[in-house]
Amino acid sequence: MSHEVLEFDVVSASLTEKAKTDGAELIWDRQQAMKAKCGFGDKGLCCRICAMGPCRISPVEGKGAQRGLCGATADVIVSRNFARMVAAGTSAHSDHAREIATVMHMSNKDGNYKVKDVGKLLNLAKEWGVETEGRENDDIAHEVAEIALNEFGKPFGTQRFITRAPEPRQKLWKEKNFEPRAIDREVVTLMHSTHIGCTGDADSMLEMSMRTSLADGWGGSMIGTELSDIMFGTPTARGTEANLGVIEENMVNILLHGHNPSFSEMVVLAAEEPEMIAMAKEVGADGINLVGMCCTGNEVTMRHGVKIAGNFYQQELAVLTGAMEAVIVDVQCIFPALARLSDCYHTKFITTSPKAKITGSTYIEFSEEHALESTKTIVREAIMNYANRDRSKVLIPQAKSKALVGYSVETVIQHLDKVVNSHTDVFNTVKPLSDVIWAGVLRGAAGIVGCNNPQVKHDKSHVTIMKELIKNDVIVVTTGCAAQAAAKAGLMTMEAKELCGRGLKEVCERVGIPPVLHMGSCVDISRILDIVGRVAIERGLDNSDLPVVGVAPEWMSEKAVAIGTYVVTSGIDTYLGVTPQVLGSEHFTDMLTNTIEEKVGARFTFEEDPVVCAQLILDRMEEKRDRLGI
Ligand code: SF4
Ligand code: SF4
Repeated sequence: MSHEVLEFDVVSASLTEKAKTDGAELIWDRQQAMKAKCGFGDKGLCCRICAMGPCRISPVEGKGAQRGLCGATADVIVSRNFARMVAAGTSAHSDHAREIATVMHMSNKDGNYKVKDVGKLLNLAKEWGVETEGRENDDIAHEVAEIALNEFGKPFGTQRFITRAPEPRQKLWKEKNFEPRAIDREVVTLMHSTHIGCTGDADSMLEMSMRTSLADGWGGSMIGTELSDIMFGTPTARGTEANLGVIEENMVNILLHGHNPSFSEMVVLAAEEPEMIAMAKEVGADGINLVGMCCTGNEVTMRHGVKIAGNFYQQELAVLTGAMEAVIVDVQCIFPALARLSDCYHTKFITTSPKAKITGSTYIEFSEEHALESTKTIVREAIMNYANRDRSKVLIPQAKSKALVGYSVETVIQHLDKVVNSHTDVFNTVKPLSDVIWAGVLRGAAGIVGCNNPQVKHDKSHVTIMKELIKNDVIVVTTGCAAQAAAKAGLMTMEAKELCGRGLKEVCERVGIPPVLHMGSCVDISRILDIVGRVAIERGLDNSDLPVVGVAPEWMSEKAVAIGTYVVTSGIDTYLGVTPQVLGSEHFTDMLTNTIEEKVGARFTFEEDPVVCAQLILDRMEEKRDRLGI
């Protein structure tokens, strides 16, 4: 196994030694077995969407096959593959959101699913023109949920949340025909267009991908975030801990991994039930230690302070500690490899969603109708498994960092209110943030998001870019596995202000925030869109005018492709630390990294070196500041 990829992360490196002893296979072993990557796939040049193929195009112009059997060129094939990634990513976020809307439609003050944030419900009801006077909250929630559910398949109109964008952006989307219609329709249309014999024009394929991606960012993801806050509470600032050291030697350890809060919230409730804690004590443990991973970990840490065991690439390492009674998962980003790995230990790998069954796992279907009962059954399985732990195989790395989490837009604004001058300014706006950017105290803001990817040293790109930016007075907001990397690196503490430039340090002290703000899970990137949009609106500008960027230093999933595309289409420059599989088409690559800017005022930059990437970001921010004359 190559340890080179891990040298940045000593905690994980120590565990990989253990894997050898235990005969466990990890992602790095599989990466080695894969040997060199297929050059055609790496450049996006292979196509297998019809049975005349598979076809592959020579990466060298004028040499070898230049067209597939149907005549599709490199440009068409690359753009089509990219579009399919956007469609899949949008589907994943949107189906997640549909589940939240469904449980909101079931909400009942006496049931398992209850409205937690009534204020946010009433605000959204007002935004969507739902009558609230004299009505029960549940009634209002059901109507709002029904409207949300219609966003997926309504026959006419466009996504409701696009009206939250700054006006110039909305106008641009209208002119370019980028306004997303029903979410499912955009996905279906995009898939249709990628079928053999449909779109044979890379420019048009990209434009359709952009419209579909907006149905994610300003559709599915935004619905997911807003409705999750209404149902499970809008996150507020709180403390937690992160890294594998949060696993406890004498507790029943349960790893919650996946994405959907309609499931994870119920697991949290189940694990807190006195009868469950008593049962854990009966089997000889001190209690139940629920820890999170990936986006579900982010959801439950934002709302409950549940400790973060790690991010995407640590999912196997958590099992490798030998102290994990159960890994409970729902959907997305779950290695099927966990089934085989769990067999090396006593760990129960429990799948719960009919959308993500995994061979070799224990399948206990989660039922929304009997949500709490169903999660109690699952937690019970974990507790009963404590007796099977083989203590000779336990190795829990003693590393964990403190972190402050829970920075929803509402919480950020509450903090900003601390520095509002009540004689001259109004409360409850983002003006203090835009003021410090305009004054130059902060040079800009970066949203750093996305996954882990064994193609780069794990967490190194996330942490390096964050440190470089805060050092240069750029405030960082983060979600997903990038946020977990920051938490592990101690960047979400008040002490991290010492790593900042003078301006950002001052802001952190006065506002009482760490320099890197945890804004949640991947669907919560919609919170970043929201806050950027508010600053632009406050200044009467468009997103693309602001010294603001999106960065995905270690991305890997199709969801990340959809995210990057909607961020750029929203006017925010996006930096990718892993190059997407598009280099086989010079034209398509040029569109993404260059000419797309003519259409939407933002572009992609591919840069794998995190230090160089940070410098490019800083240069771009200064360029934007010059254009604004600030
Ligand atoms: S769609 Fe065209 S390029 Fe793709 S596999 Fe079929 S024939 Fe080959
Ligand atoms: S950041 Fe990437 S790896 Fe992590 S949960 Fe989100 S999509 Fe999955």
